[in-house]
Amino acid sequence: MDQFRTVLESPFTRLRDMMSPRLARMLPLLRPWLSLDGELRRYFRDPRVRLAMTFQSKYLGMSPFNCPSLFSILSFIEYEYGVFHPIGGCGAVSEAMARAAEDLGATFSLDDPVEEILFRGRKAVGVRSRSGVHECDALVINADFARAMTRLVPDALRPRWSDRKIARKRFSCSTYMLYLGLEGRCDDLAHHTIYLSRDYLGNLDDIERRHVLSADPSFYVQNACVTDPSLAPPGQSALYVLLPVTHQHENVDWSREAPAFRERALDQLAKVGLGDVRSRIVTERQVTPANWDVDHEIHLGATFNLAHNLSQMLYLRPRNRFEGLESVYLVGGGTHPGSGLPVIFESARITSKLVGADLGTAVPVGEDDGLLAPSRIEAGIPEGVDL
Ligand SMILES: Cc1cc2nc3c(=O)[nH]c(=O)nc-3n(C[C@H](O)[C@H](O)[C@H](O)COP(=O)(O)OP(=O)(O)OC[C@H]3O[C@@H](n4cnc5c(N)ncnc54)[C@H](O)[C@@H]3O)c2cc1C
Repeated sequence: MDQFRTVLESPFTRLRDMMSPRLARMLPLLRPWLSLDGELRRYFRDPRVRLAMTFQSKYLGMSPFNCPSLFSILSFIEYEYGVFHPIGGCGAVSEAMARAAEDLGATFSLDDPVEEILFRGRKAVGVRSRSGVHECDALVINADFARAMTRLVPDALRPRWSDRKIARKRFSCSTYMLYLGLEGRCDDLAHHTIYLSRDYLGNLDDIERRHVLSADPSFYVQNACVTDPSLAPPGQSALYVLLPVTHQHENVDWSREAPAFRERALDQLAKVGLGDVRSRIVTERQVTPANWDVDHEIHLGATFNLAHNLSQMLYLRPRNRFEGLESVYLVGGGTHPGSGLPVIFESARITSKLVGADLGTAVPVGEDDGLLAPSRIEAGIPEGVDL
């Protein structure tokens, strides 16, 4: 775990960071030549066990057969430390972080999209948003990488990430979502349920290679009300249904496909004991890859950003201190270490340290504020408090 942290917590801003003796010593452990499935093959013969231990690659929007073995760290963290639910949902974490930032003096301007980044030469000096011009000493971009670059930064200023080069990059899959408010509780359904397609490999191929919709798609259902009743009115349930699907591609026109795919998604729910779901729907929201793209400004609707193949990772991913421009930094799934919430929070810590170092400002991000020991998590005892 400590050795993996070297990769996940370092910025990889220079080519020589890829050749450091420390990283070289880790190669036999990281085994970058292996996929996640290849890594687990060393321990488990039965492919069903490997699937059960590798589906976490979906958090990065990748198949375990393409995902680099480094990301076995995600499965490890889940099994070693457990899976937690923030009361109020994941949004409660963002709100708590916003309160912490406000306590440190940050201000927020919501519903105020940035429409242009202002440059003096190659240096970012501010942004123009709906509410006006805001000057800056340093600019941290959290918007989707490809969308922000192609819309907000002139092509000539980013030769390594020009529109032409971005168009040739590989992007993750997308998701088709149904958010359902149901009459009655679903006490027999666990908080997390994952259904893997009978033709799992075919489903992955449909998503990543053929770019078509599957007849028997894998899906994930979250029934968080069994843990957190605050998520629905008394006597009702809030379900979140996620089907991994291809990112936006000419093969799938969501304006035509969405109604039939909704029916397929509802039919699939019978496979996890929710055969009566249609008659119980009180409220519903559907989000397709086209919605992620157009309404949420995510390039190709690729919800997990640039794919995580080795040619788009570490030094080769858009860097936290963005290359070629001055005073521009990145956080989020498009920069190092990559997509998925755990590593995105790492990107924020890496970038905070870089901004602090460049501006000569102390940042409240410690060196040893990593994971708590499992025994402390189980006992609910924070680091620094004697056991
Ligand atoms: C349905 C779904 C399920 C997922 N499940 C998991 C999971 O189980 N585990 C996991 O680890 N990861 C999961 N992920 C992935 C994870 O949620 C994403 O990787 C992560 O939220 C991306 O974070 P981000 O900071 O890069 O971007 P975002 O969270 O998208 O934040 C970018 C922000 O920038 C704002 N923005 C965009 N353009 C502008 C602009 N011009 N001006 C101002 N603001 C702008 C957006 O409104 C948005 O608030 C899931 C993703 C989806 C979509």
